[in-house]
Amino acid sequence: MKNVLVVISGPSGVGKGTIARIITEKNKNVALSISCTTRFPRDGEKDGREYFFVGRDDFEKGVSENGFLEYSEHFGNYYGTPKDFVLKRLKSNDVLLEIDVNGGLNVKKSFPEAVLIMVVPPSLEELKARLVGRHTESAKDIKLRMDRIEYELSKSSYYDYTVVNDDLHRAVEKIEEIILKEKNK
Ligand code: ADP
Ligand code: 5GP
Repeated sequence: MKNVLVVISGPSGVGKGTIARIITEKNKNVALSISCTTRFPRDGEKDGREYFFVGRDDFEKGVSENGFLEYSEHFGNYYGTPKDFVLKRLKSNDVLLEIDVNGGLNVKKSFPEAVLIMVVPPSLEELKARLVGRHTESAKDIKLRMDRIEYELSKSSYYDYTVVNDDLHRAVEKIEEIILKEKNK
């Protein structure tokens, strides 16, 4: 079976992080890529676990040295996928990227064999409830994320698969099935 590069995208609050954590905990063959970001850590986040938290200067240096597989700017901060990490891990593992739709589409350009999975909510009301209920952003940051929901969802048709995150464990299972199917192709 080959190793696959899997991208999970979807609007903020849909459950990407939760799903990615469960999949990588359950499946030791799947490594989660840790992105770099210039945003500040939220309460409980740890450098090198959720993200590598870096300054703008260091991020821009990484960009100029071609160190990112892709990067984008969201909500006033940079986010990027470290190229070395992904390419090294792919030699021995499947690699999961949890990135936005533009990042996913950019990865597909340089890696046509990447598998793009869009996670969508059962309804917009439920998505907004999850985003607010997470209690991790200010009202202003929640508004910025909500304003982007429609854009993220509008790119679903470019993705290889769409998975509804209604029941969390069912969504995890569906993504595990997709990974297995793609590994066997
Ligand atoms: P994202 O990484 O897409 O921004 P998170 O993984 O942080 O989203 O999830 C947002 C919130 O929704 C969290 O509080 C999480 O516990 C909750 N959540 C995730 N999946 C589900 C689900 N299937 N049903 C109900 N709540 C969920
Ligand atoms: P958050 O600040 O909520 O952790 O993430 C904000 C957005 O940045 C989410 O849509 C998330 O998927 C995206 N993101 C996280 N890491 C990366 C990355 O490396 N590249 C890109 N393009 N987007 C990312």
